[in-house]
Amino acid sequence: MTKEKSKIDLMREIRTEVAEAKDSPLYEYRTENNYFPVIGQGSHNANIMFIGEAPGKNEAEKGIPFCGAAGKFLDALLESINLDREAVYVTNIVKDRPPGNRDPLPQEIEFYSSFLDRQIDIIQPRVIATLGRFSMTYLLNKFDHGMKGGSISELHGKELNIETSYGSISFLPLYHPAAALYNGSMRDTLLEDFKILKKYT
Ligand code: URA
Repeated sequence: MTKEKSKIDLMREIRTEVAEAKDSPLYEYRTENNYFPVIGQGSHNANIMFIGEAPGKNEAEKGIPFCGAAGKFLDALLESINLDREAVYVTNIVKDRPPGNRDPLPQEIEFYSSFLDRQIDIIQPRVIATLGRFSMTYLLNKFDHGMKGGSISELHGKELNIETSYGSISFLPLYHPAAALYNGSMRDTLLEDFKILKKYT
């Protein structure tokens, strides 16, 4: 009888596949720069899963998501609702750094999205909080949500419902912490929107 694969094994398979994905549009850029792919970090049993955009330079140098300035603000947001980073799972839609911090291209999102889909099925969070418009748009389309096509300024802080392979869960679009770094009112909005996550802690 074959033993069911553990969450760790399944996540390791994703890590290996991404690391060896020579057909990725960002593979060459990663290897030329000695960057790491950034798979994700945190508890594989988390209730809350955060999905950002793509690794920046700091992240690609360390292989860890949100470990630069935006990550510091994410930590402060988590702290504001008494949450440790280890209690949640943090990842990005795109697993390799796009050159020069540009926005991810549609073909990059398309390439990496199947890995994200598998991560959602492994973690099975009770709520997915997207950080920024790229992961928000991807999930609205993936789950064919009635609000698809909506903008982040309309949808941030609104708790939506999505039907996943493992049941109905919440989906909370949030602004990206990097966008709020130098924008005081967006910072306040993010802090306010984060309070919605408290009930999942
Ligand atoms: N911005 C993101 O979207 N993800 C990271 O991991 C870092 C910055």
